[in-house]
Amino acid sequence: MNIEKLLRRNIKQLTAYSSARHEFSGEAVVFLDANENPYNTPYNRYPDPLQIELKHTIAQQKGCLPTQIFLGNGSDEAIDLLFRAFCNPGVDNVVSISPTYGMYKVSADINDVEVRAVPLNEQFQLSASAMLAKADEHTKLLFLCSPNNPTGNLLSASEIEQLLVSFPGIVVLDEAYIDFAAEASFLSRMPQYPNLLILQTFSKAWGMAGLRLGMAFASEEIITVLNKIKYPYNINLLTQEKAQELLQYEAQKLEWVKEIVQERVLLVEELKKLPFVVQVYPSDANFLLVKMHDATGIYDYLLEEGVVVRNRSNVLLCADCLRITVGLPSENELLIEKLNDLL
Ligand SMILES: *Cc1c(COP(=O)(O)O)cnc(C)c1O
Repeated sequence: MNIEKLLRRNIKQLTAYSSARHEFSGEAVVFLDANENPYNTPYNRYPDPLQIELKHTIAQQKGCLPTQIFLGNGSDEAIDLLFRAFCNPGVDNVVSISPTYGMYKVSADINDVEVRAVPLNEQFQLSASAMLAKADEHTKLLFLCSPNNPTGNLLSASEIEQLLVSFPGIVVLDEAYIDFAAEASFLSRMPQYPNLLILQTFSKAWGMAGLRLGMAFASEEIITVLNKIKYPYNINLLTQEKAQELLQYEAQKLEWVKEIVQERVLLVEELKKLPFVVQVYPSDANFLLVKMHDATGIYDYLLEEGVVVRNRSNVLLCADCLRITVGLPSENELLIEKLNDLL
């Protein structure tokens, strides 16, 4: 991978905004450099633009370097920045699997970048060769999601590796649900693949969706580009401090994951007993994709009963499918109770 060739010319030539807090980050007696209000401590001060402390903690947990981490206002920020850094509007394209997470396409559309979607097979697996066949000299990014949303399955590791070896652009591997999966993250393989960018998030296993904090892991070369073009203070003070505090409770996260995975197993058993359930797809995530007779009718019925699930009926390969998040035991019981009332 040649990052100089991949980058858009305007981004390569860009002089990034240099904030006061960026130019001076040491210890000082007084800060009179950023036109901050001297009152209302600590909210009067701009937050650390590069989130050094938080990245240090994350790096220790993940076994990588702080310089290999980008933090964004949700994973969505990293997705958008990748388009803005690498894809010339109206010229370049990206290749993605289908079905998958909707934000890749939305971000692409906002940036006027074509998405070449390659259907998964009936087992929701990808074909590396089919994806490579769709790529051309204008293909800058490749989007994979494992475990995939909304299908719930892990993608084949060997197909992913084939893409990492053969694709000359950046391979984005979204691991938002990896904590719930039976296989390990691709993070440990990062040193082998300079074109790998892994997305993870605090929104799912960590239970911090409200904080808006997403992570991207990649070579320092790629991370430097994202840092160069992000908003200077993209992660606010409250998010940085709260995430730092909650990261101490990794045992709690592991306990939640264990509970949710156990509940997922129970939910599969209960759903399979229902005569109108056609198929419960295997899941490595915190949700289940369930094919039913008249999924939309059942979706509407559940809504009336106050139980909100996601109707994925209009998504490729997901006809008559609902996506159901695994909740608390009591919430899952209520769902099953309401579905049993239909009999
Ligand atoms: C939920 C989810 C995310 C998380 O997005 P955030 O912006 O970090 O909340 C990312 N990717 C996928 C596939 C998801 O389902």
